[in-house]
Amino acid sequence: MKKIAIIGGGIVGTTAAFYLSKAEDFEITLYDEQTGQATSAAAGIIAPWLSKRRNKQWYKLAHEGASLYRQLAQDAKLDSNAYSKVGVFVNRNDETALNNLFSLAQERIQTAPEMEIVEKWNQQTISSKMPYLSEWAKPGIFVGGGSRVDGKHLITQLEAASNLTVKNEKANISVVNHEVMVNEEHYDSIFIAAGAFAKELIQPFGFELQLSPQKGQLIEIEDDSINVDDSMPIVMAEGLSELIPVGNHQLLIAATHENDAGFDLNPTQPEIDGLVNNAEITMPNLEGKISTMITNIRIGTRAYTDDFSPFMGTIPGFDNVWIANGLGSSGLTTGPITGKLVADDIMSASGFDGYTKPITNYLSGIE
Ligand SMILES: Cc1cc2nc3c(=O)[nH]c(=O)nc-3n(C[C@H](O)[C@H](O)[C@H](O)COP(=O)(O)OP(=O)(O)OC[C@H]3O[C@@H](n4cnc5c(N)ncnc54)[C@H](O)[C@@H]3O)c2cc1C
Repeated sequence: MKKIAIIGGGIVGTTAAFYLSKAEDFEITLYDEQTGQATSAAAGIIAPWLSKRRNKQWYKLAHEGASLYRQLAQDAKLDSNAYSKVGVFVNRNDETALNNLFSLAQERIQTAPEMEIVEKWNQQTISSKMPYLSEWAKPGIFVGGGSRVDGKHLITQLEAASNLTVKNEKANISVVNHEVMVNEEHYDSIFIAAGAFAKELIQPFGFELQLSPQKGQLIEIEDDSINVDDSMPIVMAEGLSELIPVGNHQLLIAATHENDAGFDLNPTQPEIDGLVNNAEITMPNLEGKISTMITNIRIGTRAYTDDFSPFMGTIPGFDNVWIANGLGSSGLTTGPITGKLVADDIMSASGFDGYTKPITNYLSGIE
């Protein structure tokens, strides 16, 4: 049995643990401090196909990540609280922009059959499919293969489907004479999947990790007057917050992207008000009432790199220590494939060709 330590029980570390534990010849220890975890705060959308990002590695990762979900859902027996293919509706306020987006969607579906269907929805269709938006009802595009993921449910279910030891404690790394220890224990392989908190874990290797924290806040609302159920699509209204129906009369409004808040995990009124105001634009019938319907506020810390690209690989000079990070605001989409790629590389040195820029782009202090 080979001993593996995974540091970080977010979406990346937990998915890697799931795939490694299927191989049966590993003894896996997952260290997770849990504080500030992005994954358990996150709920959102898996629909990378309409993104205009030009980064080819990111699109490959996100597109394959979206299709991996179906297999993962089957293999780990995920329920609809964790993963559900409900479709996504994306609006554009300008007609030319809408037509351009429709063309992009039609082009992308040729190589991404998991998009399933691409349709233009007009005011009438929106009102019939999503009655709670009938007063707003701006035309947009529906992509049938888009999915809803709840990070907390996902990692709880992945952990339950894996054979591993979980230690809810802080992991420290020491490097003495090139030997790497985690909390003074030796492991054959180590995977650092520590999200926004990874910087201090990399320092013992003599590197500075180029990574910044981004605070995300999301609100949950519930009221009999919110006419939604969990089969309705996720809505990405241009310039506004995302609307994620999660149950009868239950809606999530997501999310803030705060680059100046460091690792703060407290709710802040101006940002909550921003989410509420955005939601009131799409649901004018609830004007003045949404802030009284808030049942929960979720807050987490995302990690992003200077070029907003995720990265993965082994630490230079240490071929038994892997790191993956910088998933930013699309980490629910790219997290499982990233965890799987690292698990595959640990098991069979399959590499990361085409999925990431060189890891050295994100490390400094290299001699
Ligand atoms: C509000 C919000 C909404 C989001 N919405 C979406 C969305 O709609 N679509 C999408 O694709 N993505 C979304 N994201 C982004 C996505 O959630 C993240 O990119 C992703 O979850 C990051 O996963 P991770 O495993 O890299 O890190 P994390 O989930 O942050 O996990 C890292 C874990 O490592 C632990 N850790 C760190 N250091 C140590 C240590 N020394 N010892 C032990 N444990 C340690 C931490 O406590 C944490 O639990 C959202 C994020 C937020 C916050």
